[in-house]
Amino acid sequence: MMLEEALQRISEQAKRKRLSLPDHKTKIVCTIGPASDSREVLADLIRAGMNVARLNLSHGTFEEHRENIRNIRMAAEDADLPVTILIDLPGPKIRLGDLAVEPVELQKGETVTFITAGSSDDPSLIPVDFEQFPDLVSEGSTIFINDGFLQLEVGEVSGRYVRATVVAGGTLLSRKGVSLVGGGNVALSAVTDRDLACIDFGLTEGVDTFGISFIERADDIRRARDHAARAGKSIRVIAKIERQEALANIDEILQETDGVMIARGDLGVQIPIEDVPIVQKRIIQKANILGRPAITATQMLVSMTDNIRPTRAEVTDVANAILDGTDALMLSEETSIGKYPIEAVAMMAKIARSTEEKRSTVGVGCNLVDYFRKGKGREGITVNDVVSLNVIESMDALGIRYVLTPTRSGNTPRSISRFKPEAWILAFTRNLATLKFLAFSYGVYPFLIRSEKEYWHGAILDLIRDCGLIEPGERVVLTEGISPGRVGTDSLIILTVE
Ligand code: PGA
Ligand code: MN
Repeated sequence: MMLEEALQRISEQAKRKRLSLPDHKTKIVCTIGPASDSREVLADLIRAGMNVARLNLSHGTFEEHRENIRNIRMAAEDADLPVTILIDLPGPKIRLGDLAVEPVELQKGETVTFITAGSSDDPSLIPVDFEQFPDLVSEGSTIFINDGFLQLEVGEVSGRYVRATVVAGGTLLSRKGVSLVGGGNVALSAVTDRDLACIDFGLTEGVDTFGISFIERADDIRRARDHAARAGKSIRVIAKIERQEALANIDEILQETDGVMIARGDLGVQIPIEDVPIVQKRIIQKANILGRPAITATQMLVSMTDNIRPTRAEVTDVANAILDGTDALMLSEETSIGKYPIEAVAMMAKIARSTEEKRSTVGVGCNLVDYFRKGKGREGITVNDVVSLNVIESMDALGIRYVLTPTRSGNTPRSISRFKPEAWILAFTRNLATLKFLAFSYGVYPFLIRSEKEYWHGAILDLIRDCGLIEPGERVVLTEGISPGRVGTDSLIILTVE
């Protein structure tokens, strides 16, 4: 397997040269598009700090995405750094079709006509690629386009045509999302047949991590998992929270999912936009408690789509998401169609470094140590919680820089990561799927190891000593599962390295 070999090679090289860890711990997810799909730009994005390349399957054909996947893997080799691929499923989102000419500037007060079609040759008709569109609107309904940047009010609906008046104008581009407030999408299943076909495509290409759009409940995730299971495969799922219903069912969704995305673009039109900040904090807190990596997404540095410098508000938004406890930050237009994709990633990395360095001095976010020690978390506390809590306290008390976690599932590094420690979490696994999914977890640096024997702590210490990460005489924390019968991690050791 090509990817496995590449990762193995990266681990081997890490041993030979002195390995330097990134200067920040927050992970960066980049949406790939025309501005970033060349092998050269991809390699630069990886060097600048991209951990996960997101392919949004709402755009492009399978052929194009197959080519993207190939380029991403070659770029990872060029950069000599690992990268994880996330396939984002389209979900039941209503989108514009292909416009006859673009961009189209819509002016306030102007009247336009939508037609249900995949594309339009007539520049006076705006295609909406969704047959039931006219049934979902009526006179007076509000239509938002492109995460609410454009707003229209529906007038006459007749057959395949919907007339509407522009309330807030702006630029129209092909394939932009259309949202109908107060429903519209509601009648549609969150995991469509097209989504299932996209899962098949991903699995054929060796990608096993999928973002599921517009989910409402845990069953939507199970539908995707069951589909893969019928093909004998297991998948990793990022639940995209972008509907009111998903908020109502957030606890069952977090139980079922592997990771979560606060998809603020659609969320910000489906719920009152002013509720987004608190919802973001609540979801991140809950995800942290359960050890599910959280990705904060959309418009984080959106002005960098056109400008080389972000706004102060954007920089502050990125920093605040980190202080909320997010594991990962996502870029969308900034890297897919923007003028400065590499600069946007470099900017995120810089904000992350500065914020992480000082996070302990401002005392914000959810204090998970207190939550487990004296808060609600005391009830039903697990062995896993106790071990991770003690890892954190040992590292803080002794000023330890690294915790070494041999892991099969990735649960142990994830449960330590949720405390957002100052120390690095070095994870060692033989399981490639585990390694790839750790690309979403804050402060985790995963190594691929070859043999069962290398799970043993002597071998792990040798490996990091060879990388030049630890100084002789330095203390590290190491976690282990030592109970017979492999029940998971149940111990921690504080070791002084020779
Ligand atoms: P999208 O998801 O970019 O696929 O729409 C993110 C969001 O809605 O914020
Ligand atoms: Mn969305």
